[in-house]
Order: sequence, then C-alpha cells, then structure tokens
Amino acid sequence: MRKRRPHYRLVKIHRSYKVEEVARLLSTHKNTVRAWVKTGGLPTCDTTRPILILGRDLRAFLQKRRTKNKRPCKPGEIYCVRCHAPKQPAGDMADYQSITASLGNLIGICPDCGTMIYRHASRVKLPEIRGKLDITFTEAERRVSDSSLPIVNSDFSQG
Ligand SMILES: [Zn+2]
Repeated sequence: MRKRRPHYRLVKIHRSYKVEEVARLLSTHKNTVRAWVKTGGLPTCDTTRPILILGRDLRAFLQKRRTKNKRPCKPGEIYCVRCHAPKQPAGDMADYQSITASLGNLIGICPDCGTMIYRHASRVKLPEIRGKLDITFTEAERRVSDSSLPIVNSDFSQG
C-alpha cells in the first residue's frame, strides 16, 4: 500500500494539459496517463495534436478514481486509518460500545500497526457486520428506557 495516489487538487480546472504535463504534475509516468486516456475513460480534446486533456476533466477523473479505490469494509472488518485499509481486528476480537440503544461503535485493534480501529455499527445490523468477530458488549451508559428493548445478545452467544 505504498503507491501514492495522484493528487487531484494539483490540477487546475481552467487549464488544459498535454500528456507529458499531466505526468509531471502528478509525478506519474506518461504511459500511466496514456492508459487513463485509452482504457480508463479520461476524456481528451480529440481535435488537437498532441492531445490535450482539460483540467476539469482530469480532476473529475481523478476524484472518481479516488472514490472507486476506496474499499468498503467487509463483514468482520474495521477500517484502519493508519494503514488506509480495512482490517480484521487482532484476535478476531472487538468491543461493541453502545452510544445509544440502537447505535454504537465496534472497536478493535489493527493487527498490523496496533492502532485502535473504530467502526460505526447499528445494533440491529451487528449480525451482518460482525463476520466471525468475537464481540464483547460494553455498555457505557444504560438508561432506564433501554430495558424495554429486546436484548439481541442471545444471537451472538453461540460461536
Ligand atoms: Zn493499521
């Protein structure tokens, strides 16, 4: 994960760029830029030679790539902000700390860098989210009204 992502904010939207200029601006290879044009769907001004890429097109293209590259967490995974990747918490263990009766945080430890990792989790969706995680429930505060809610704990007790 040490590949640097091209920084779309460097692109000026009112400019147009040659392939070489794009490469230099984003510290990437000319062939990478050509590949974006050829197969990545980056639009160009076809009428000009050498081809020109509009700043605003390039910027939109890079922004779209950024969001596309973001990997969503699979069940049992929590995103580590330091590793920039979803991680299976160390020991497959996580704490569920309730914020409200229906909402809380899954808290684990990144197995690679040791950082505490957090994921918002709605209590009813825990069965989908948890994957094979071993979850410990920590109730930070418990209000009297909560006792009327069904306790979903029983679903998790059998491994
Ligand atoms: Zn990490």
